[in-house]
Amino acid sequence: MQQDPNCIFCKIARGEIPSRKVYEDDGIVAFHDISPIAPVHLLLIPKVHVATLYETTAAHEAVLGRMMALAGRLAREQGANDGFRTIVNTGRVGRQEVMHVHVHVIGGPDPLGPMIARKGSQGD
Ligand code: 5GP
Ligand code: ZN
Repeated sequence: MQQDPNCIFCKIARGEIPSRKVYEDDGIVAFHDISPIAPVHLLLIPKVHVATLYETTAAHEAVLGRMMALAGRLAREQGANDGFRTIVNTGRVGRQEVMHVHVHVIGGPDPLGPMIARKGSQGD
């Protein structure tokens, strides 16, 4: 499986950097974000190194689909059973910080803030 020796999430996938894992199979690892922004904040990653959604191809469809299909189950298992948000930040504009594709699963008992603040409008 293709990995990047310098990538922090590849190291987490290999177990070289500790993480609070909540799920693992042959292609996916899910773990708690080190700096959570809500009571539930998981990161789901493919074990294969893919930097961003610009680099994903048809070869990644199965693992990406499995990550999305797992999100609800893992959110519920962590206590987010009344909704959650999935986010995939991409590149500079998306403010992606770790260059290994990951899905944030963010939730908790209370509703989250607006996804993106809209300029000049009040909560539409
Ligand atoms: P991004 O901005 O790239 O979408 O999000 C990267 C996320 O990875 C951030 O929420 C950050 O807190 C998390 N993160 C960065 N380094 C580590 C780490 O070493 N362990 C864990 N568990 N999360 C990390
Ligand atoms: Zn990686």
